[in-house]
Amino acid sequence: MDFDKLKSSRDADVNGKRVLVRVDINVPLQNGVVTDDTRIRAIVPTVKDILGRGGLPILMAHIGRPKGQVVPDFSLSVLQKPLEAAFGAPVVFADNKDGKPAKAFSDEMQPGQVLLLENLRFTPGEEGNTPEFAKDLAALGDIYVNDAFSTAHRAHASTAGIAAHLPAYAGLSMLAEIEALRHVLDKPEKPTVAVVGGAKVSTKIPVLKNLVQRVDKLIVGGGMANTFLQSMGVMTGQSLAEPEFHYQAREIMAEAKTHGCEIVLPIDAVIAREFKAGAAAETVPIHKVPIDGMILDVGPQSVEQLTGVLEGCKTLLWNGPLGAFEIAPFGEGTFALARAAGALTQAGKLVSVAGGGDTAAALNAAGATQDFTYLSTAGGAFLEWLEGRELPGVAALLQ
Ligand code: ADP
Ligand code: MG
Repeated sequence: MDFDKLKSSRDADVNGKRVLVRVDINVPLQNGVVTDDTRIRAIVPTVKDILGRGGLPILMAHIGRPKGQVVPDFSLSVLQKPLEAAFGAPVVFADNKDGKPAKAFSDEMQPGQVLLLENLRFTPGEEGNTPEFAKDLAALGDIYVNDAFSTAHRAHASTAGIAAHLPAYAGLSMLAEIEALRHVLDKPEKPTVAVVGGAKVSTKIPVLKNLVQRVDKLIVGGGMANTFLQSMGVMTGQSLAEPEFHYQAREIMAEAKTHGCEIVLPIDAVIAREFKAGAAAETVPIHKVPIDGMILDVGPQSVEQLTGVLEGCKTLLWNGPLGAFEIAPFGEGTFALARAAGALTQAGKLVSVAGGGDTAAALNAAGATQDFTYLSTAGGAFLEWLEGRELPGVAALLQ
């Protein structure tokens, strides 16, 4: 895909036009209150830009998984007020009550207003990407903007089908996300290093297979490192591991060798006999894990070695924590390496991009988020990008 051909919503002539904007405002809610507004803040620049240039933004979004049925608990009505506050502009909610069609709301829109459509996933045609629903959506506006990178791995009516009917543009946060990912994967400053951690190797095989072809060094940490270590004959005691994936681990190591990618595994570990807060922790060399011990973090010598690896690189991509960071003290390895990466970034020596739900939580806990170049919150779409797959929601903007 030629991403340079992506058109920015900033370059669309929106004056007096109805602009259908796909956004991801699938925010965490508790009793109807938004508990984390990151996703709302992310769409503000695109919406304000459209409003500021006389356009009429119509927001298309979803919450949860209502599976093609009207589920009142998943109504987008709860977001009307938070969105008004974020945009500093009136938001009209097209509630579909009394049979008033969305088209009537669209026709009645006034300049300066934002229209919020009801949860698209109440309609089976959204996730089914039916031509009818894509057409119905397209009929509501003149221009299509996708500002939801995090749903771009799904081919739905609002992320893919609709683009065939209207001039299509990428929103500003979508462009920022793509730019950050291209910066580390497609046109990085070399040498490059990837840190991949997390619980299981089985969930990240396609990611690892793609990365060994692209990066100079691959640091494997977290529970998944245990499967690699075992496959090399290291005894990992009671640690989380997937012996049925030894073969895959060896295959990944062989592919890494073919592509000149160096795989770096932990040389020491923090272990415990139980996986719970306050469990007695102990640091051991990686070849000395006791039979009743569980590897729950990388040790200080690994952190020192890995920091050295980062110091020798210009570009870092990070997905997955190096240990069970949720429980003290098993986050220390991840936190220390995150702070080192943040410091190198701030010193202008490293471009650092991280992504993943738990990775974001770990970077926040380390106080390192602000020091990274970019933190993706896209989850599934971020991982599919790391797998080297084409995202339908991005491809649709290029057709
Ligand atoms: P992300 O959400 O950033 O993609 P993952 O979901 O792949 O990250 O991995 C996060 C999980 O991996 C965390 O719940 C963490 O506790 C777990 N984990 C990391 N290292 C270990 C380990 N050594 N043993 C058990 N679980 C681990
Ligand atoms: Mg996770």
